[in-house]
Amino acid sequence: MVLPTAPPGVVEEIAAFGRFAAARGWVPATAGNFSRRVDAGHAAVTRSGIDKGAIGAADLAVLALDAPIPAGMSAETPLHLARYRTDAAIGAIFHVHTVASTVLSRLDERAGVVRTDGFEMHKAIGLRTHESVVEIPVFANDQDTVRLAAAIEARLGAAAAVPGYLLAGHGLYAWGATAADARRHVEGLEFLLACHLEERRLR
Ligand SMILES: [Zn+2]
Repeated sequence: MVLPTAPPGVVEEIAAFGRFAAARGWVPATAGNFSRRVDAGHAAVTRSGIDKGAIGAADLAVLALDAPIPAGMSAETPLHLARYRTDAAIGAIFHVHTVASTVLSRLDERAGVVRTDGFEMHKAIGLRTHESVVEIPVFANDQDTVRLAAAIEARLGAAAAVPGYLLAGHGLYAWGATAADARRHVEGLEFLLACHLEERRLR
């Protein structure tokens, strides 16, 4: 099957986030995957095994949200497509493997959430006040990503309180209406997790 190529603007948005994430060490050893909605029924998604710091048009495939996933795509592609199907307002999804998200998701896997409390950064992920408690959902990692996507969507639904979740021992997913929103949410959540991890270490 010949897949259409992603529009240049979409390629550049994903490539720009890839350079940003790679510079911060958030996508080590080709880890992570990124996507951008192209229209109501399609999204451009990074292919498997590519260097996330040097993404070009050939590294993306435009996929139908409700069709079988072609060969050469990341095993995590179903997690992206399921989010777009559930919430029509989502325009971009970025997934990174950071130290804080990997460690904290293991520590709090049983609780099912990482709770952060009172951080000014809460505003960056859409909360109106720093007073709020934020509960970042944690899901057990599962190599059957179709099954995992179903479990995630059943819990999050179309109105997730926090624009991201953690996979235990694995990393962080975050999204937004635009690529800029998704990047701000990745940065905000990662900052919260890094602060929270540091506090727990010092306690
Ligand atoms: Zn991953």
